[in-house]
Amino acid sequence: MLRVAEHRDETPWTKTMRFKDAVDARPGQFVMVWVPGVDEFPMSISYVGDRFGITYQIVGDGTKALSKAAEGDIVGIRGPFGRGFSITGKRILVVAGGAGIAPTAPLVDAATKKGVAVRLVLGAKSSAELVFESRCAAAGAEVHVSTDDGSKGQKGFATGLASSLIEKERYDSVYACGPERMITAMADICRKRGLPMQASVERIMKCGIGVCDSCALDGKHVCTDGPVFDLEQLEKFSELGKTRLDRTGRKTGI
Ligand SMILES: Cc1cc2nc3c(=O)[nH]c(=O)nc-3n(C[C@H](O)[C@H](O)[C@H](O)COP(=O)(O)OP(=O)(O)OC[C@H]3O[C@@H](n4cnc5c(N)ncnc54)[C@H](O)[C@@H]3O)c2cc1C
Repeated sequence: MLRVAEHRDETPWTKTMRFKDAVDARPGQFVMVWVPGVDEFPMSISYVGDRFGITYQIVGDGTKALSKAAEGDIVGIRGPFGRGFSITGKRILVVAGGAGIAPTAPLVDAATKKGVAVRLVLGAKSSAELVFESRCAAAGAEVHVSTDDGSKGQKGFATGLASSLIEKERYDSVYACGPERMITAMADICRKRGLPMQASVERIMKCGIGVCDSCALDGKHVCTDGPVFDLEQLEKFSELGKTRLDRTGRKTGI
């Protein structure tokens, strides 16, 4: 049980919660967040190391209850869990769509700290929903913004902007987190260009430790085998971008 040290608004629908405690985690790993009496759900670690933190969109009952926590309140945290990103190469492209910036912002921090040249494509529905643009620029990344409605940066999806950057410049590796159709589109682009890629995948998770099977994806457990997978593995997933298990374990379309 950890005490909330800071709880701030990033946008009207996105908040960052930080704790006094340090967590030794790799960018891309996640924690299970327990709001007593409400629910427990997975959240990527958006700040690793000292004063670790999570950054979340308010979407349903669990995140709505979490959003009401004040500084000094107590939240249950289990983890860190899962396999995070591994940084390879000297020049990388990071593609983050929506809440996908939560696990990729610490990746940008870690890569720039290692002297890796980082280009970040930050995509959101509108300028009001952009998160961590200045944080990533301050870390040393060259930030390229795309918005679906054209209110900031290039109009359109993050994949379009990422694809034009890939045509202009050679990257050693590509990293992605965001909506599943963004991940499958980036996997297509990277396969055609022969670029190594890693992406973080989301599935319903209950235990976070590979026991309950809620996050099963083509025989893998996203919580322990992922959530970060490389291109070779992503291409083997026949269900990616098509189906997922709902909260009752029933297969549903995406
Ligand atoms: C590894 C991982 C990391 C994540 N990191 C982040 C993050 O950094 N920031 C962020 O905003 N969101 C993140 N999510 C999604 C987040 O877990 C859900 O938004 C959250 O559980 C919603 O809970 P709720 O009760 O508010 O909404 P609900 O009303 O329960 O659900 C709203 C939506 O969230 C999905 N969802 C619900 N429960 C889960 C669950 N246990 N696991 C996964 N998806 C769920 C549902 O399919 C639904 O589409 C992550 C998910 C995973 C699997």
